[in-house]
Formats: sequence, C-alpha cells, structure tokens
Amino acid sequence: MSKVRVRYAPSPTGQLHIGNARSALFNYLFARHFGGDFIVRIEDTDVARNVIGGEESQLANLSWLGLDWNESPDKGGKYGPYRQLERLDTYQKYANELLEKGLAYKEYREDGKKFAIRFKVPQDVDYVFKDIVRGELKFNSKDVEDWILMKDNGIPTYNFAVVIDDHLMEITHVLRGEEHITNTPKQMMVYQALGWEIPQFGHMTIIVNEQKKKLSKRDKNVIQFIAEYKDMGYLPEAMFNFISLLGWSPTDNQEILSQEEIIKAFDPARLSKAPAMFDKDKLAYVNSKYIKAMSVDALSELAKPFLQKANIQIHSEEWLKLLVGIFHDRMSYVGQIVDLYHAFFHDTFELSEEAFQFLVENNSYQILEVFYNHLKSSDFTSESIEPLIKQTGIDTQTKGKPLFMSARIATTGDMHGPSLPISLALLGKDLVLKRLENTMTKLRGES
Ligand code: GLU
Repeated sequence: MSKVRVRYAPSPTGQLHIGNARSALFNYLFARHFGGDFIVRIEDTDVARNVIGGEESQLANLSWLGLDWNESPDKGGKYGPYRQLERLDTYQKYANELLEKGLAYKEYREDGKKFAIRFKVPQDVDYVFKDIVRGELKFNSKDVEDWILMKDNGIPTYNFAVVIDDHLMEITHVLRGEEHITNTPKQMMVYQALGWEIPQFGHMTIIVNEQKKKLSKRDKNVIQFIAEYKDMGYLPEAMFNFISLLGWSPTDNQEILSQEEIIKAFDPARLSKAPAMFDKDKLAYVNSKYIKAMSVDALSELAKPFLQKANIQIHSEEWLKLLVGIFHDRMSYVGQIVDLYHAFFHDTFELSEEAFQFLVENNSYQILEVFYNHLKSSDFTSESIEPLIKQTGIDTQTKGKPLFMSARIATTGDMHGPSLPISLALLGKDLVLKRLENTMTKLRGES
C-alpha cells in the first residue's frame, strides 16, 4: 500500500467548530495510527464567506488541541501551495483538458465573453464506492445535472477543486462529514474523466445534541466552538479525548485515554454509523478527570489568569494553592474557580433550614461563642486554627459532630466541605468573625 496521506480541508469562514475539529482529529488519528501524513489545506474558493483571520484561528485552535501536521500553508510542503486561491492556474489547466476531451463545455454569459465551464455528466452511470464508515453506497448519474467546474470568474467550485487537489497531493483516504456524501459521485466523475485513481472515502456521521437534533451553529444551548472551551478553562488533552469519542470508541469502551493511547487504539472499522451525541455532562466529566489528575501547583498556574481577570486579589502563592487545593475535586473546568471563589467568600449566607436546626438542636450558641473568642485572639493559619477547634471542645465539653459541624455551619454556611481549618484560614479573620457574629445573632433571635 502506498503511504497513507489524509487531509483536513477547512474553509476559513470562521472559528474552529466542534464538528470540524472532529473531522481534523479523526484524520489526524488515521494518519498517525498508520504512520502516514496529515495535511491541512485551506479551501478558500467561496470568497464571500472567507473571514479575515479565519485560517490563523483554525490552525491555532488545532494546535491548541494537540494536533500537528506535516504540510499546510504555514508549514509548506512539496505539494503546495496549500491554499486553493493560490492554485487557480492548476484548476484552469485541468478544466481546459476536460474541454479538449469534450467532457466539459463552456456556458457563455449574456455579455458573450465570460463563460463558466460545466461538466458533462455521463448518462445513466452508476457510481459505487465502499465507504469506510457505511459500506457500499451507490448513486446514479441521472440524478445529477451537468454541474459547474469553473465559475465565470475563473474560480473553481468545491467539487472540482477538491478532486484536483486530492489527486495532486496524493491523498489516499478522504475522511469527512456525512454532508459530503452526495458530493462524492460528482467527484468520482472527475477522477474518471481525468483517468485518475479514486481515493477511499469515509463519511463520518453527524453530531447531534441531547434532543437528537443535528448540532447547528445557531443552537445557543450548546457551546460549539473550540476557542470557547479554551477560554473557559477546558484542558486540551480532555477536549482531544472527548472529541475522539464522538463517533468512535475503543474495543474496551474505556473513556479516559491519552493521545498516544487513542492513536494506538484508533481503528477506522470502529467509526460509528449512528449519529454521535454531544453530551455536555460527559465533556464536563472527562475534563474534571483531567483536572483531578493535575498537581495543585500546575492547576494553580492555570487558575491564576482566571482569578486575575475577575479582579480577585491573589494574596500569595501559598493562598492561591490553598484555594485551588480545596476546590480541586469540584472543578469541572478551570474558570469555575471564579464562581467557587465568590460562593465561598460571599459576605453573608442564608443558612438552610436543616443547618439552622442543627445549631438549635445542639445548643451550638455556647460552642460558637467560645470558638469566636479563641479565634479573635489567634493567628489565622490552618495550623493555628486546628487546635482552637479542639480547645473549644474541651472548654465546652463537646466533641465529634456537634462540635465540628457547629463550627463549620456557622462559618461557611455549609454542612459539608473541604477541611475546616484550611477553609477558615483562606476566608480570613474578618470574614470568619463576621459570619460567626451573624450566626450567633440569628440563634439569639431563636431563643
Ligand atoms: N472545505 C470542505 C468543508 O469544509 C471540505 C470537504 C472535504 O473534506 O472534502 O466542508
């Protein structure tokens, strides 16, 4: 078999979308699994839809995801140029060849000068191919009218340019979205007309939302652009992992896999025929797994810019690590640290009925008063706070749940949470004392 060469061929019409990212990623996996080349080609012939910076942002987002490629407009390569608008002469040359062979014809515009070139579709011919994902597919040419190869402005249509490029770039496998299935017979016609070998095609299923509707860029309920996930603090390794499972699964159905493991396990025979569901909860779960696997130090570095952007004062590196440490297990994306911070440091809190009843039933007022006095005259590090809880127990002859839970509820408002001495040290003396005062005032109102 000749060397595997696959490509991702985006149109630079905007940001990298989850569907395009999946196309790129599956081509990348295919290339790396089979030791082949992965090429990025820019299909910019739909000039009106191109956006400035579209190409750069596509490539930047692909790199962020952890993909690299062998040839592209920015890297070059011996099959370039890799932007279609820089290859117009090449398309013209092959369009002329088809004209000469009588397999295409000119269609003049009203001015009598400009013309488009149309492909002469053979009559009643079956186009059969074995799709890598779907197996054998068959189309008849009677459903296809003569179609335009070159527009009257000298720019080729997608279906023509894609064949010329895939052939000249020696692409062996074309993996792309299902929406291109009906383009395939048109492309096969051109391969045959030029006497070229046809690559293998594989069409990946659509991605659907949780209501089983095709994911649409207009669907505001699902975040769909890779850059948005990046900005929220999703980890690239987690995104890579998650996207690789959109329409593919390893034999053991394992869900957390590194890039190397995915490349090794990747098997095109396991590409799914059923639509891939974009499950937000699963993405959050996968991301939280990667976050949990990080060290507090590394996670703190990632959290820092989010806190800074939210104008949250980072008192010290030590403080930052304490903060990140207590929320490590609860974060499903790094940017969540901001909400967790605000929920933790709010000035006041509403005690739940259950929490308040706990304080009433355990006669906590006395415990809190003693605890308050100890705290008031103490340093505020977790090491200095820890013995004060015990001392409060000795002074009030309480221990266990009534002691620890009373202290926790009155200072954090919660019945559960991370280590209390660390939490209190983070909250700081002023806020802790203020919260204790408020809780005691409420309890006095009750008696
Ligand atoms: N430019 C096309 C797209 O973005 C590429 C299709 C193909 O891979 O052939 O959908």
